[in-house]
Amino acid sequence: WREVAGDPGAVIGVPAAAPTPDDLLDRRHEVLAEVQEHYYAAPPRIERGWREHLVDVDGRVYLDMVNNVASVGHAHPRVVEAGSRQMHLLNTNSRFHYRAITDFADRIAATLPDGFDTVFFVNSGSEATDLAIRLAMAATGRPDIVAMREAYHGWTYASDAVSTSIADNPNALSTRPAWVHTVDAANSYRGKYRGADAVKYAPEAVAVIDELAASGRPPAGMIAETYFGNAGGVALPDGYLTEVYAAIRRHGGLAIADEVQVGYGRLGEWFWGFEQQGAVPDIVAVAKSIGGGHPLGAVITRREVADRYRTQGYFFSSTGGSPVSSAIGMAVLDVIEQEGLQENARVVGGHLKRRLEKLGEKHDLIGTVHGSGLYLGVEFVRDRETLEPATAETAAICDRLLERGVIMQPTGDFQNVLKIKPPLVVTQASVDVFVDALDHVLT
Ligand code: PLP
Repeated sequence: WREVAGDPGAVIGVPAAAPTPDDLLDRRHEVLAEVQEHYYAAPPRIERGWREHLVDVDGRVYLDMVNNVASVGHAHPRVVEAGSRQMHLLNTNSRFHYRAITDFADRIAATLPDGFDTVFFVNSGSEATDLAIRLAMAATGRPDIVAMREAYHGWTYASDAVSTSIADNPNALSTRPAWVHTVDAANSYRGKYRGADAVKYAPEAVAVIDELAASGRPPAGMIAETYFGNAGGVALPDGYLTEVYAAIRRHGGLAIADEVQVGYGRLGEWFWGFEQQGAVPDIVAVAKSIGGGHPLGAVITRREVADRYRTQGYFFSSTGGSPVSSAIGMAVLDVIEQEGLQENARVVGGHLKRRLEKLGEKHDLIGTVHGSGLYLGVEFVRDRETLEPATAETAAICDRLLERGVIMQPTGDFQNVLKIKPPLVVTQASVDVFVDALDHVLT
């Protein structure tokens, strides 16, 4: 790791020059501090859950509209059964080949295009993106990584270093090491290009990659969320990823897809980037949905990418993809497939988006409704022309929704977007309850 990362100062995280902060940065930090203090002042103490519902210690029932980790819903009986059965059989992890783990690795590989034949198991999304970055560095023998602004990839050293969104990571911009290079986010809130126009960022990203190569530092890879989670569910425009991946590969680098947030069903596909956008990466990081709430992550790649890393040191995680995690992951994939949850994401998500758009015609505070499947964003603005973010209003809306039994969360660098990502089992009746509550609160 040190060897491929080059500059030891960068490896131990000595702050490098801050990347171009935009002029609102200082204000964003203030806004975040205020909102977090406000929003988290009195959170409910949740004790149990089922499907898309949660129950607090006083027996109050809530509708959970933000829990994308519990992909198949809280306490799904098949997942509970699979995990319990495996606990009775075996739960340990070492260099032997345990059946639950190898079966699950095969199952994961089968959800990806041909050629993805190597699976590394870890415990979380941060570990997955961190390992994906190290694999790219090891496979290419290069230290530099390109990341997109306003993205979030995790909290471990390498995943934090490439995280540019300050929504979940206030330190991100002050700790960026020299091996991280950023390109403008497609569709960013204050970006030059939005909507379909956002694809115009692709040549700018390609120019950054070409420039790095021309300066003698061709990047090891580029990490991208195929769909921006922390911006509240913003899809990369068609064509963006294919252009940028091509530029990375032209210079011998690798394309890393961070599918932690949306992989495995949330957008109505296993993987949005491959299936909707036709952009196949070299390394894929997954977590969240696949574990159904359990600590589980994975990195999937091709053997030739993995081999260089393995020859530098055996990869081993004591609990990553343990037999119990693997049995749970297997049950989660079965449930998503057999209970038609990708279809549910498309149908219920489509219904929800249409209802929210209708609400936008009635309430001026709603600036945009964006996203796809069961990952939608509602952005609140004070003025539809200037897009002045309605940050304090968004926090108040979340509080009022909570009083009405809906658990919701603000997101985005201005915390003015509702990030709507309920468990994939959510019913149309439940999303109607949410929209009616939001209508009431806005009125
Ligand atoms: N990548 C993305 C896109 C995420 O949204 C997250 C978490 O929010 C992570 C990585 C990190 O995952 P974890 O919280 O499991 O470490």
